[in-house]
Amino acid sequence: MNSTLSKYGVTVFEAMSRLALENNAINLGQGFPDENGPEELRQIAANAVIRGPNQYPPMLGIPELRQAVAAHNKRFYELDLNWETEIMVTSGATEAIASSLFGLLEPGDEVILIEPLYDCYLPLVERAGGIPKFVQLKAPQWELPQDQFSEAFSAKTKLIILNSPHNPGSKVFSRDELQFITDLVIKNNTYVVCDEVYEHLVFDDHKHIPLMTFPGMRDRCVKVGSAGKTFSMTAWKVGYISASENLLKAISKAHQFLTFTTPTFLQEAVAVGLSQNDIYFKNLRSIQQKKRDRLKHALDEIGFEVLKVEGTYFLSIDIRSVGFMGSDVDFCKDIIRKAGVAAIPISAFYQGEDSGSFARFCFSKKDHILDDATKLLGQYINS
Ligand code: PMP
Ligand code: GLN
Repeated sequence: MNSTLSKYGVTVFEAMSRLALENNAINLGQGFPDENGPEELRQIAANAVIRGPNQYPPMLGIPELRQAVAAHNKRFYELDLNWETEIMVTSGATEAIASSLFGLLEPGDEVILIEPLYDCYLPLVERAGGIPKFVQLKAPQWELPQDQFSEAFSAKTKLIILNSPHNPGSKVFSRDELQFITDLVIKNNTYVVCDEVYEHLVFDDHKHIPLMTFPGMRDRCVKVGSAGKTFSMTAWKVGYISASENLLKAISKAHQFLTFTTPTFLQEAVAVGLSQNDIYFKNLRSIQQKKRDRLKHALDEIGFEVLKVEGTYFLSIDIRSVGFMGSDVDFCKDIIRKAGVAAIPISAFYQGEDSGSFARFCFSKKDHILDDATKLLGQYINS
């Protein structure tokens, strides 16, 4: 077996979902909504699969979807990208990230990774021959440590992976933080893979600002989006990349040998999805924000300290706030078995040591499921 990948077990999301199933627990671990997604889009996909054609679409994606991604960039962010040369459709954001790393990295290139870290970044960087350099954000504030971040750059730094809105920190990077990152990226002549899968899941008065919109960053950023998140259908695995022609050329070299294409019928539906009116995007936000508030309120009542949630569909708690003195992994195992609720330990997103005292819940669930889960957690705490 390949020695880079043999170090890794099954992902924490899969492991926790299996445990939840075995224990018949409510699964607030792995991040996915428990709804079916917009019926209109499902109908378009169903019609397209019956009507056909069901053969390979163009390697970069069907024109309708590439045009829709370009129009979406313009509509929400005033970004101008050429749909023919600067947009590519991938099989999920995961494949977009893999293709970016495989297409851009040379063995020995350094990559700055911000912990807590979404699970696929590190194995993919290493498999591409990259050398990871870690910078840690720490709960509960998740502030970017500016000195550490500047020191992480070297002559060998090729790129950074920046995830905003951030999973699992639920943080939306501020304009000041993004400007700070921009200045370092330009000074050090590097690139950024921007994982923006939660771009439409931003709450209160927070605003998602793609790093690509900052002066000087247009041709240094690889902007990654996911229909799975924007249309609440995580199984669809349709992603999209926006990047300058030079970068996209390199990335498409990897894409053509990894997946080559993405199912046409899904692309057709996502193209219509991205062109929905503003009401769709407003509703997505406000529905998820209400769910966040519902879960937060119930967990507050139980006595958990709930961390701030600016975006994504995750909320984290401090397990010490209810007197649990074991590790976050122990806590998550305990609540699966004793309360019948699954969560994800935040330590799983770090390589080295972290405080080990935070757990992440996904709030993108039906109200009665959130209510049942918090009732069970309340009983667990009281016992
Ligand atoms: N990046 C982040 C931060 C995620 O949370 C996820 C998973 N939902 C992905 C990428 C993967 O997205 P996709 O399912 O489109 O591959
Ligand atoms: N993004 C999801 C999460 O953070 C998991 C996706 C997966 O299991 N690969 O929970």
